[in-house]
Amino acid sequence: MAHHDPLTKLPNRSLAESRLEQELEQAHRHNQQLSVLFIDLDRFKQVNDSFGHLVGDELLVAVALRLNERLREGDTLGRLGGDEFILIASPLQEKQDAAIIARDIINALSEPFNLSNGVEVFIGGSIGISLFPGDGKTVADLTKNADAAMYLAKESGRNQFSFYTSELNADARNKLEMENDLRRAVLHNELLIHFQPKVDLRTGIICGAEALARWQNPEGVWITPSQFIPLAEKSGVILTIGNWVLEQTCAQMRLWLDAGLPAVCVAVNVSSRQFRSGYLDKLVAAALDKFKIPPQCLELELTESMLMHEPDRAIATMGKLKKVGVKLSLDDFGTGYSNFGYLRRFPIDSLKIDQSFVQGVTIRSEDAMIVDSIIGLAQRMKLRVIGEGVETREQLAYLSTRGCDELQGFLFSKAVPADDFAALLKSGKKLER
Ligand code: C2E
Ligand code: MG
Ligand code: MG
Repeated sequence: MAHHDPLTKLPNRSLAESRLEQELEQAHRHNQQLSVLFIDLDRFKQVNDSFGHLVGDELLVAVALRLNERLREGDTLGRLGGDEFILIASPLQEKQDAAIIARDIINALSEPFNLSNGVEVFIGGSIGISLFPGDGKTVADLTKNADAAMYLAKESGRNQFSFYTSELNADARNKLEMENDLRRAVLHNELLIHFQPKVDLRTGIICGAEALARWQNPEGVWITPSQFIPLAEKSGVILTIGNWVLEQTCAQMRLWLDAGLPAVCVAVNVSSRQFRSGYLDKLVAAALDKFKIPPQCLELELTESMLMHEPDRAIATMGKLKKVGVKLSLDDFGTGYSNFGYLRRFPIDSLKIDQSFVQGVTIRSEDAMIVDSIIGLAQRMKLRVIGEGVETREQLAYLSTRGCDELQGFLFSKAVPADDFAALLKSGKKLER
């Protein structure tokens, strides 16, 4: 069994790699092509998180069986670990054949799985394909390139396959460079924070702000958080950045308070690594203490996926944060897989409706329905509800008639430098209706 995965009985990584080695020798000798398919399940984590590891294991076994049925004579299927599988298709007549195999596997994985707990789950798969000899001649190169192609398939919206291209390599290099730049950015003060006002819909005045990280690299190029936060998350730099944002926000709030500006609640985004670190409450308490900020003036924005990963542990972490005295809100609400049983047990203060729903509210009835439900849910749970990404008067009108509490969006103001935010607060600018 040393060469097989005990759960699915498929060849494990080391056996799959030595098979690939043999197939490569064959292909080389006979001047044939072969292809490596890197298969990663979509939504496996959600099933595992929602129903537990036993159900997750059962699903993996079912996936292995289903994939096995699709193999052609001579193909090898292995499990690399977690929800990653590898398929070596050898020999291959032409490139198009690899696409046919990939399409076939994706179709097989799109069919529902009926699990023994009576639940029917829908997963799916993303596949990256590399070809011998075009995309590499060694086991290491072919698997690395198939993996890179798999990421492209995921990024293009899942349930797809992608062939490896040399541009992908350049892309991976760019990411690596950006990662190094990001480490430097923290050290060299290239990061800063902009503040986006939140407005109370009843009074029309500013009641808070969200702190949003900004990065201008030495070439003067602005890099958006959507580009660097995921990278920082992956490499772990997010712990340094996150703590910097926390401290810097408290320092800024102290300056505003000392200048006699009205105290408003400022929200900071928390990444899942920070949340799971085990010491976030200590860092938050230290930052508040250092700048003498009343805890209720700081809010932490969390996301559904980071709470649903290990809900009981998340509840304990949130409990520690509530002890410190800060507010907690659920960001981008509606985009994750919330389990309402748990939602009730989360000690949160507010829900932020994801901007995709807000922006669709006046054009798509489904989005309007989702917004109505979230507001209703928040009201029943006695939570404040904030509409994010409000850009038009129509969206504002919709939200305020439905009883939304606060608004954040370009209609009132985008995120602005600290001094501009102070000026806005001082001016007493009101939301026009
Ligand atoms: P988010 O927390 O959901 O923040 C709201 C994003 O929506 C911000 O983008 C904001 O500029 C944008 N936005 C606000 N109003 C509007 C609007 O009316 N229309 C449109 N189209 N967009 C609007 P930004 O600043 O690019 O941030 C993107 C994401 O990056 C944030 O989403 C947050 O998840 C993450 N992020 C930003 N700063 C930090 C940070 O310090 N730490 C962590 N962990 N994540 C951060
Ligand atoms: Mg946020
Ligand atoms: Mg958001």
